[in-house]
Amino acid sequence: MLLRAQRSNLKVGAIIAAAGSSERMGGIDKIFTLLKDKPLLAWSVDTCQECDLVQQIVIVLNSSNLELGQKLVKERDWSKVTICLGGVQRQDSVREGIHRLVDCEWVMVHDGSRPFLTVDLIRNGLAAARETGAAVAAVPVKDTIKLADDTGVVTSTLQRSELWAAQTPQVFRFDMLIKAYQELTTEVTDDAAAVERLGYKVKLYMGADNNIKVTTPEDPALAEVIAQNI
Ligand code: C5P
Repeated sequence: MLLRAQRSNLKVGAIIAAAGSSERMGGIDKIFTLLKDKPLLAWSVDTCQECDLVQQIVIVLNSSNLELGQKLVKERDWSKVTICLGGVQRQDSVREGIHRLVDCEWVMVHDGSRPFLTVDLIRNGLAAARETGAAVAAVPVKDTIKLADDTGVVTSTLQRSELWAAQTPQVFRFDMLIKAYQELTTEVTDDAAAVERLGYKVKLYMGADNNIKVTTPEDPALAEVIAQNI
């Protein structure tokens, strides 16, 4: 009972950033392509819709997909979902999403192109974020990472044991994320980077190797294999 009360007190909103232009996919928009038996976007949104910890969901889409998105909301009976139009850069899309959230204390931002979101990733993200106000799902990198100059010559090799590949979900105190986005003037590739710039502590928590981002033409086949095996 107590747990239930604590859950409903959390006031969590989710932003599903799905307004990309699929440039690295060769222009093929993957977000509505079928993965096993349902559109790729529906995988993560279903998880949020079914998760008691999340009260509101904003799906951010580009203008070509707004209608398809509205149709999907009706078809799948997503009672928590609002749809909004994104922007040119990912951070513009997330900013639009933040402004659609009402009365939230926590925001979970997730890439719509990562279908294999789980309730555990959401729950663990919220738990980690309660320690510092900001948390990022991440996995240890498997490759050795090198820095190189413009000509491809290596300038240094980074210490692999200290390197993590950041994923989403990324969870933040609402006021922290709002402030980070208000003060953001340069491009960032994830939301935590905006928060880090203000000097806030961001806590990593364990993501999942199968929490892939469907980005390049090879990825849908891999996603299909994962989908068939979960
Ligand atoms: O481009 P990147 O791989 O960082 O995109 C991650 C997620 O952000 C994708 O789900 C994509 O649809 C979304 N995105 C967005 N608005 C943009 C660019 C990307 O919502 N302008």
